[in-house]
Amino acid sequence: MELSKPVTDYFRLVDTQKAALDRLGIKTVRDLLHHFPTRYEIAGEGAEIAGLVSGQEASVVGTLEKMEAKKGWKSRIPMTEGYLRDNTGRIKCRWFNQPYISKMYAEGTLVKATGKVTGSEGKLYLANPQLEKVSVTESALFEKEKVINADSGEEAHELFAIYPESRGTTSLWMRHAVAKFLTQEVLDQVEDPIPADLLKSYHLPTLRTALVWVHTPHKLAQAEAARKRFAFEEVFMIQLERGRERALQAKEKSFAVDAPEPEVQKFIDDFPFDATDAQIAAIEAILTDMRSGRPMSRLLEGDVGSGKTAVAATAAYAAVRTRPEGQKNGTLQVAYMAPTEILAKQHFESFIDYFEHYPINIGLITGSGCFKFPSKINKDKFTPISRTQLLKWVAGGEIPVLIGTHALIQKSVAFKHLALVVIDEQHRFGTNQRRMLARKESRLPHLLSMTATPIPRTLALTVYGDLDLTLLDQMPPGRKPIITEIVKPAERPKAYAKMHEQLKEGRQAYVICPRIDEPDPDKAFALQAKSVTAEAKRLKKDIFPEYEIEILHSKMTPKEKDDVMARFSKHEVDILVATSVVEVGVNVPNATMIFIEGAERFGLSQLHQLRGRVVRSNHQAYCFVCPESRGESTLKRLKALTTAKNGFELAEADLLQRGPGELSGRKQWGISDIGMEALKNLKLVEAARQEARQLIKKDEALARHPLLSRALAARASQMHLE
Ligand code: ADP
Ligand code: MG
Repeated sequence: MELSKPVTDYFRLVDTQKAALDRLGIKTVRDLLHHFPTRYEIAGEGAEIAGLVSGQEASVVGTLEKMEAKKGWKSRIPMTEGYLRDNTGRIKCRWFNQPYISKMYAEGTLVKATGKVTGSEGKLYLANPQLEKVSVTESALFEKEKVINADSGEEAHELFAIYPESRGTTSLWMRHAVAKFLTQEVLDQVEDPIPADLLKSYHLPTLRTALVWVHTPHKLAQAEAARKRFAFEEVFMIQLERGRERALQAKEKSFAVDAPEPEVQKFIDDFPFDATDAQIAAIEAILTDMRSGRPMSRLLEGDVGSGKTAVAATAAYAAVRTRPEGQKNGTLQVAYMAPTEILAKQHFESFIDYFEHYPINIGLITGSGCFKFPSKINKDKFTPISRTQLLKWVAGGEIPVLIGTHALIQKSVAFKHLALVVIDEQHRFGTNQRRMLARKESRLPHLLSMTATPIPRTLALTVYGDLDLTLLDQMPPGRKPIITEIVKPAERPKAYAKMHEQLKEGRQAYVICPRIDEPDPDKAFALQAKSVTAEAKRLKKDIFPEYEIEILHSKMTPKEKDDVMARFSKHEVDILVATSVVEVGVNVPNATMIFIEGAERFGLSQLHQLRGRVVRSNHQAYCFVCPESRGESTLKRLKALTTAKNGFELAEADLLQRGPGELSGRKQWGISDIGMEALKNLKLVEAARQEARQLIKKDEALARHPLLSRALAARASQMHLE
C-alpha cells in the first residue's frame, strides 16, 4: 500500500461512500490518515434512560418516536416534541423554536441524543438535545466494547475515536478504514516535514507516532500529545507561508505616495466631525508606510462604527494627490473592494461625501451596473454609465478612484497607475491577487485591508502574519452605548413593548432569525428562509400589525436583496426580518433596534457584530438577545455581551469556550479544527511564529528543508482547490 495512492485502489467503496470521501477532501491514503477524530469516547459511556435525573447533561442512544412540530400552548413558541426510547424506558424531548427538527429526523431513527435533563421527577424531558444519527452496528458496538472491556480489563479497548459523520460515512466505518491503513508498511513511508530539533525542543511526537496516537490512543494523554503536534504543525505551516510572503513583499517596489501634508491635513479638517485620536494615528501609520516606496501591507481592525471609511478615504486622497513618477499630470489610482453590492454602493456614496470639496471622478463597478460621479449634467449627482466606458476611463487614468465588488478584480479591469488597494472584510487577499490587480505594472500596489471581525490575538497573529496591524480601538464621541438586554422567553412582551415605543418615535428595527446548523448548506438555507418567512408572518399578525415588515435572506437574488435594502434605507419598511446576511457592514442609521432570536446559536463575536448594525447614529440603540434555551450556562455566556468592553474581548471568550460553529475555522480562515484548538494557546502560537520567522531568515527558499517546501506546496494547492 502506498501513502500517495488513492484510497479506492485498496478499498471497494459504494457510491455514497465515495461521495462522502470526496466531500471530506479525502483522496489518498495520506488524506485518510490526516482525517482526525473529533473526540474520544470511553466504551459504554452512554447513559440509560431509566437512570436519568434532572439537571444532568446526558448522552443517550435510542430510537426517536412520535416526532411532531407544535406550538407551546401558552408561549405559542414553535417547537418539536418527541420521545427517545432505549431498552430501559423512554423520555420526552423538546426542541424549542426548532419545528424543522421533526422533518429532519423521521420516527424510528436511531440517534445519540446529547442534552440537559430538565423538569421534575416523572415529567423529565431532554431540552434541545443535539442529535447524531447512529448506525445499528455502531450502537451494538457500544455494548460489545463494554463487554470486551469488562472481560479483558485492558486499557487498550477503553478509548475509541469518534469521527465526524456525514451522509455515507459513519464514525465506525471511518475507524475501520483508518485501521486498515495504519500498518507498519504505510507508516514506514511517512516522512516528517517538521525538523527534528524543533520536535525535540517542544517535546512533540514525530509524525509517525502522532498518526498512531491520534487514531488509536491507549491513553488520552497520547491523543492530546498527537493533537498538539498537529496543531503546532498547522500553525507553523501557516506562519511559514505568511513569513515567506512577507519576505517576498519586502523586496518588491511600490509607489512613493507623497501628498503635501497641509493638503492632507485640510482633507481631514473638512470631515463633518473631528477625527478621533485613533483615526489620526491610523492615518499617520498608513501615510508613513505609503511614503516609503515599499508596498504597504496593513490591516486596520476596528469595531463597527469606529470610522474606518474616513481613514480609507484619507489614504485614497493621499494617493490621488500624488502624481505618477516623472509626470506633470495625472494621478495615482485607488481600488476599493467591498464584499457585497449593497456595501460597495454605500462606500461609493460615502466617498462622494468625503471628496465633496475635491473635484475627482469616482467610479462604481458591480455585477449589476456601473456608475460615475459626478454626472456631466448634474455636478452633485452620480450617473449610470456603460461598463466599457467606465473601464476605458479607468484604464486611461481619468477615474482615479474605483469602488466595487469582486467585479473589480476581473481581467477586463485595468488601471493606469494603481497605487492603493483598499479591501473591506475580505479575509485574505494575498500577494498574488495584488500582483494580478497591478497587471503589467512592475510595482505592487499598497494594501489596506479593513475588518470589523473581532478576532482573538492568536488568530490575528496567525492568519494575518504577513500584515502590520493597526487597531481603531476608540469610538467616535457622542455615541450612546448600546443597551443590550438578555430576553428570557417570558420577557418577550416587555421587549416588544420597548420596540413599539421606539417604532412609534420613527425608528426602525432588525429581527434576526437563528442560524440553522444543518450539514447540507442548501437545506440550511431553505430552513433559514422558512424561519424568516414564518417569523415575519407571526410578527405582522400578532405583534406589529400596524408596521411594514419585510424579509431578507440568502435564498433571495441579489436584486431582490438590494430592493429590500433600498426600501429599508428609505424607511418604507419599518422592520426587517433577516438571517445573518445583514451581518456585514450595512448602514441604516435610523435602525436602532435589533432583536436576535436563537441567540445561543451565534458566537459572542458574531452577536457583537450583529448588534453593531444599530450603533450608527446618536439615537439610543437597543439590542435584545433572545435565546431558545433557558439553561443557566447559556444565559451566563450571553451575559458577557453586557459586560465586555469590546469585540476583541468577546472573540477571546468565544475561542476559549468554543462550541460548534462559533469560530468556523475551516470556512473562514482555512484552519482545521485542530488548528483552532491551537489558537487557545498563545505560547504555542508565539513559538510557532518565532520558529517560522527564524527559519525563513536563515533559509528563505527552504532549500535546506525540501520536505517542508513540498508540504507547503501541497498545502497551497489544497487551499486553492477549496
Ligand atoms: P466602520 O466602517 O468602521 O464601521 P464608518 O466608517 O462607516 O465605520 O463610520 C460610521 C459612522 O460614523 C459614519 O456615519 C461616519 O460618518 C461616522 N464617523 C466616523 N468617524 C467619526 C468621528 N471621528 N466622529 C463622529 N462621527 C464619525
Ligand atoms: Mg465599514
